[in-house]
Amino acid sequence: MDLFEYQGKQYFAKFGIPVSAGGVAVTVDEAVKVADASQYPVVVKAQVQVGGRGKAGGIKLANNADEVRLHAGNILGMDIKGHVVKRIWVEHASDIDEEYYASFTLDRAAKKHLLMLSAQGGVEIEEVAEKDPDAIVKLHINPVDGLSEKVARQAAVDAKIPAKALDGVAKILVQLYDCFTAGDCDLAEINPLILKPTGEVHALDAKVSLDGNAEYRHPEWAEYSATEELDDREQLAREKGLQYIGLSGTVGIIANGAGLAMSTLDVVNQVGGTAANFLDIGGGANADQMAAALEVINFDKEVKSIFINIFGGITRGEEVAKGIVEAMKRVDLRAPIVIRLDGTNAEEGREILASAGIPESKLLSKPTMLEAARAAVALANGK
Ligand code: GDP
Ligand code: MN
Repeated sequence: MDLFEYQGKQYFAKFGIPVSAGGVAVTVDEAVKVADASQYPVVVKAQVQVGGRGKAGGIKLANNADEVRLHAGNILGMDIKGHVVKRIWVEHASDIDEEYYASFTLDRAAKKHLLMLSAQGGVEIEEVAEKDPDAIVKLHINPVDGLSEKVARQAAVDAKIPAKALDGVAKILVQLYDCFTAGDCDLAEINPLILKPTGEVHALDAKVSLDGNAEYRHPEWAEYSATEELDDREQLAREKGLQYIGLSGTVGIIANGAGLAMSTLDVVNQVGGTAANFLDIGGGANADQMAAALEVINFDKEVKSIFINIFGGITRGEEVAKGIVEAMKRVDLRAPIVIRLDGTNAEEGREILASAGIPESKLLSKPTMLEAARAAVALANGK
């Protein structure tokens, strides 16, 4: 679950990381109230879960109430890369001497935590990685050892953070690592981490992604779920209890098992297509589940073909086939289905599909994953 900047800052504050005081607003009047209660100049910031808000005009400095009114009015309702701004954050503006970058993530391949640190912050880290990869220090952390202030300080030295900022940066790195581990984050990123003229180091932005698997031990996360912005497709999928993630391609995907679903995305890409979603229908794909999955995929206007990829294990092929036939009666699909059915009782399943009287233009069966992917992609590309 991704947090908004203001929520990320509140989360940081719990771990002692210095952030600016401010308030959230959903109307222009509220923004002015927050600004008046703060200290001018203030900065008015769009709260959307996408980077590059500054460049898009979603971050503005305001020296008085009139300017807050002007900027808040412009930013509320603004579309930033497809995200409509419903909320703004107003905080006392900081003076900036320098901008750095710091983040913690999990490096799955290395089975360690990864610190990325750079003295070149404020711009997107991908940009730094491209132009000047040596400017990013990467340090793996064994979770058993944790991160000491000494090691953090050395990383800051290696990143060419100037001497006057070293203590402040090292301290925040330790706090941010604590936030990342004890706070169960998938990502904890500060960009920019700023050095003020006063010598203080301070988090000016916050990007936090919480690990949903740890939700059970964080009752306080309920407030974040309440404001979570899912796209309409994901909202519908959640209501139907499906493991679904919306993507931007044209081939709708249904597979049983998360691993197979991911391989399916890969194969679709490999043969020149783009997946519209990830959907793991789980074990025992019955008619109800299949109908729910097809409804969610049918709801996505970008979908041009649907690739159902089932490998029967405990899930038997004839059950899946019956489910599909039944589901197709319930859902009026806009796009054709290509199915690859393999594994337990696949033969019986294919017979059920073949004798259901569904024309090939609506349901096409292919014996292998690759052939099915090719057919689905060809249909999606209008061939
Ligand atoms: P992002 O563009 O979505 O990453 O939003 P950020 O919160 O990182 O802000 C982008 C940029 O706006 C920063 O790198 C700063 O240069 C500038 N900015 C944001 N807040 C302040 C502030 O309080 N004072 C000043 N002077 N600049 C700010
Ligand atoms: Mn930023």
